[in-house]
Amino acid sequence: MSSQQDMGLPAARENAVITGAASGIGAAVARRLLDRGANVFLIDRDIDRLRSVFANVDAPGETVKLFQADVTDNAKLKALFAEVDAHGGVDNVVHCAGVARLGTVIEIDEASFDFVLDVNLKGTFLLAKNAMPSLMKRRGCFTAIASDAGTQGASGYAAYCASKHGVVGLIKSMALDHGPQGVRCNAICPGFVETPMLDQLFADNPSDRGFYEKTVPLGRFARPNDVAELAAFISSPAGSYLNGAIIALDGGSTAGYFSSASAAD
Ligand code: NAP
Repeated sequence: MSSQQDMGLPAARENAVITGAASGIGAAVARRLLDRGANVFLIDRDIDRLRSVFANVDAPGETVKLFQADVTDNAKLKALFAEVDAHGGVDNVVHCAGVARLGTVIEIDEASFDFVLDVNLKGTFLLAKNAMPSLMKRRGCFTAIASDAGTQGASGYAAYCASKHGVVGLIKSMALDHGPQGVRCNAICPGFVETPMLDQLFADNPSDRGFYEKTVPLGRFARPNDVAELAAFISSPAGSYLNGAIIALDGGSTAGYFSSASAAD
């Protein structure tokens, strides 16, 4: 075994699979990994948006492959990883595809609850299931974008919160099951991030934006690049001892109680 493999690092050029890559955090992660020379296999259910976001990508020497796939579609994921395996296998999976639907248990209907659980939780399971054999061969890593709603309650987000707690539990189990096989599994738990998903969540109540922003000790929401930098770190040599880590990336929002007197003017 080479010393590079001993350190849990890929022996050849990094092959990265990024889901939800047509928007927000996933697009930022894809650009960040392309910048460091990875081949990227980008998945989204909206292939037209994926094409337009990466139409002018300037990545000489790297492979950029775009796939239309829903992360709840096991057959599509199987086919996708077969293609990645034809390129040598996968070293790095960053799972960003996700959905949010608002509502308490009274407000949210059964179909919406099932939809959120299907995409966010079952989608993570199916992606991990299909990626794991290849990750084990390449001693790679799997990073899920969970949420601060995966470690604490969130009023009005019953289904989303349940799904993200599930993702955190799944990642912890994966870290125990597959860490010994050389695959590091971690989750990033962002607070609010400036993406189209956030715009959609605040569409009906725009004043919520300012209200919530004031509750962040650092005084601003995260930017997609903040998340992309952490995902890049986790999957870099510097992150090679991270396994089973559930990392808050929320400007201090979940650090404890925050009085309004502490908020920046
Ligand atoms: P986004 O801008 O909506 O991007 C998510 C992308 O994933 C979209 O292109 C979306 O397509 C796609 N997608 C959704 N369901 C999919 C599926 N079943 N299969 C394949 N692709 C699918 O959202 P984002 O803010 O970047 O969120 C990325 C991840 O971070 C999500 O898991 C989210 O829960 C998490 N997160 C976000 C925030 C935040 O404040 N933005 C905070 C904490 C955690 P559609 O547009 O068609 O749905």
